[in-house]
Amino acid sequence: MTLTVVNPATEEPIAELERAGVDETDEAVARAREAFPAWRAVAPGDRARLLRRVATLVEENTDELARIESRNVGKPISGARGEIGMVAQVFHFYAGAVDKHGGETIPVAGGVAATFREPLGVVGLIVPWNFPANIASWKLGPALACGNTVVLKPAELTPLSALRLGELCLEAGIPEGVVNVLVGKGSVVGQRLIEHPEVAKIAFTGSTEVGRLVMQGAAGTIKRVTLELGGKSANVIFEDADLEKAAAAAPYSVFDNAGQDCCARSRVLVQRSVYDRFLDLLVEATRGVKVGDPADESTEMGPLVSASHRETVASFVEGEPTFRGDVPDGPGYWYPCTLVEASNDDRVAREEVFGPVAAVIPFDDEADAIRISNDTPYGLSGSIWTRDGARALRVARATDAGVLSVNANTSVRVQTPFGGFKQSGFGRELGMHALEGYSEVKSVFISTEG
Ligand code: NAD
Repeated sequence: MTLTVVNPATEEPIAELERAGVDETDEAVARAREAFPAWRAVAPGDRARLLRRVATLVEENTDELARIESRNVGKPISGARGEIGMVAQVFHFYAGAVDKHGGETIPVAGGVAATFREPLGVVGLIVPWNFPANIASWKLGPALACGNTVVLKPAELTPLSALRLGELCLEAGIPEGVVNVLVGKGSVVGQRLIEHPEVAKIAFTGSTEVGRLVMQGAAGTIKRVTLELGGKSANVIFEDADLEKAAAAAPYSVFDNAGQDCCARSRVLVQRSVYDRFLDLLVEATRGVKVGDPADESTEMGPLVSASHRETVASFVEGEPTFRGDVPDGPGYWYPCTLVEASNDDRVAREEVFGPVAAVIPFDDEADAIRISNDTPYGLSGSIWTRDGARALRVARATDAGVLSVNANTSVRVQTPFGGFKQSGFGRELGMHALEGYSEVKSVFISTEG
């Protein structure tokens, strides 16, 4: 069955693709299985050179990849270019990591024990539609560096950049069969990968709901899984913070990628003593977000990914919000930047909206801020704004989330571990930590007795 890929800013079709089914999935797994022994045996230095070459090709094709991503996801082109820049950095990082992920020698009675990091085999990489190339690279980099072969399944809405990345891997000299990209339904291709006895691990990024299905499905073959799931992160503004700076940075933290960001700080927690003043600043900063044609270099926010997703997002906003921005006329799945004053018990504060809607919530003191911040089933990301360094550390340590920033709203760095607490998932991507998820530790005892 054919899949029509649409530009969400124009609602026009931009590609027609064949959907893979169960048979094609089995064939891709078989190709990956066949390629595995030779790929794991490639000398680390040579594997590093191949990954470095992928990084260079991504750099050389940044503009093309960014345009693909912008047209397919509706991302502003400037942001898309930054994301593709990160894809290249990820491949550079894991090229450098290939020969630095060694084992240990452990003194034991009667000899010595050595540990080795062995690749898992064929790994299924299932990625969402919001950062398609980026998240694919977060999985491809460490999986390939460790010597695994992969079947990558992009989301049906946004498969184009993953297909191009697959071509660039081949062009870089990565042997046929090592990287296989399959376009198809999650419930067909994804499900088959999860259940396939020859797939050793599923590295999944997506919703918490589907994450549960991944865990259930993986139980049959005791498959390894890492899950990067949803979020409902807090941006905590204390009364002693640089309010102007925090307000200027806040729109990016929730409206970037039109709020379709697992790390979106979609709960803005503001200390009651500065609540009114901060809200005024936040409204002004939000008014300044430039929404429009993703191909325009100055655009900061594009449309949502689909019409049905826009309906879901709209269902969270009841009545007249505190602030609602403008959107372009004409076609496109536009939704305005929206600020809603809320309590942490409201649906808009409890569920992941995954759109440009922020819930602004007052708090009384440090203990109250920590309580509200942690009062969510999720635990992915968050920010703390204060000039008191000790308080920043206290709150950071007390917050149940995997990735936090102080006086900044960024979550993702190539070098640092990224992942969730609680129902935001488990396992870590990026940095050297990601390599743990793509290798098994093997211990070998060598007797020294004569
Ligand atoms: P989704 O869970 O609907 O889909 C994610 C992927 O899973 C897609 O490739 C989809 O085709 C596949 N899939 C769907 N049903 C499946 C099934 N039954 N079996 C196997 N695979 C299946 O998520 P989405 O709507 O694409 O993305 C948005 C979600 O992703 C949000 O919840 C967001 O928070 C989360 N996300 C998390 C991170 C993170 O790193 N924690 C990053 C980005 C997005």
